Amino acid sequence: MSIQESIKDFQKRLEGTNCQLIAVSKTHPVELIQEAYEGGQRAFGENKAQEMKDKHPQLPADVEWHMIGHLQTNKVKYIAPFVHLIQSVDSLRLLQEIDKQAQKHNRVIDCLLQFYIAEEDTKFGLDLEEAKQLLGSADFLSLQNVRICGVMGVATNTNDQQHLQREFVRLRGYFETLRENFFPNALHFKEISMGMSSDYQLAIAEGSTMIRVGSAIFGNRNYSVPL
Ligand SMILES: *Cc1c(COP(=O)(O)O)cnc(C)c1O
Repeated sequence: MSIQESIKDFQKRLEGTNCQLIAVSKTHPVELIQEAYEGGQRAFGENKAQEMKDKHPQLPADVEWHMIGHLQTNKVKYIAPFVHLIQSVDSLRLLQEIDKQAQKHNRVIDCLLQFYIAEEDTKFGLDLEEAKQLLGSADFLSLQNVRICGVMGVATNTNDQQHLQREFVRLRGYFETLRENFFPNALHFKEISMGMSSDYQLAIAEGSTMIRVGSAIFGNRNYSVPL
C-alpha cells in the first residue's frame, strides 16, 4: 500500500469512532510527510524537537505537530511557536518551561501527561501519585499558558494481548481518576493517547482517542540515514 492509500485506509477504519490518527513521521523525510498530507492527513508526531523544528517550515501551515518523545526543557523553545500538542509531559519543571515559552509567543500550549504503563522499555512518564501531586500543586495552578488535555502512554513491546489490554485499561483508569478529581467540568480534558502500529486495534477497543502510528504508514524506520 502507498502512504496515501494507507492514510485513506486508516481514515475509513476510524470513521465514526472517537479516535484520531497521529501519523508518526519521525526519521522520515518531508517528501513522505507531504504524501501523507495529500492523502488528507494533518496530525503528525515527532519525537525530537530539533527535527520537528526543521520540518515545520517545509510543510503546509495547517499541519498539526505533536511532540511524542521525551522533551528536554532546553529544547522547548524550538517548538513553542507552533507545536499543536505536547503529549510527553512528565514533570512539573517541563510544564513550567512550556508555560514560560508559550507566554513569550502569547499562546496557550495544549499538553498531555505521559504515564509510565509498560513493564519495561520507557524510563519516562509519571505514576498516578506523581500526577496527582503535580495537578494539585500551587505551582501548577499558577500556570496560565498551558492546558492539560489528557493522558498518554506507551505500552510494553509485546504480542501478549492480555498484557497489552491491562496496560491500556490502566491508562484509561488514570484518565478517569484525574478527570473526576481535577477536571470534572473541563470539556478539553478528553484525550487518551495510546496505541501504535502493532497494537492500535486493541487500544481503540479500550477507549483510545489518539493512536500514534508510524511504521504501519511509512514503513520501517532507518535511523542510520541522515535527514
Ligand atoms: C515511534 C513512536 C510511535 C510509533 O511507533 P510505530 O510502531 O512505528 O507505530 C508511537 N509512539 C511513540 C511515543 C513513538 O516514539
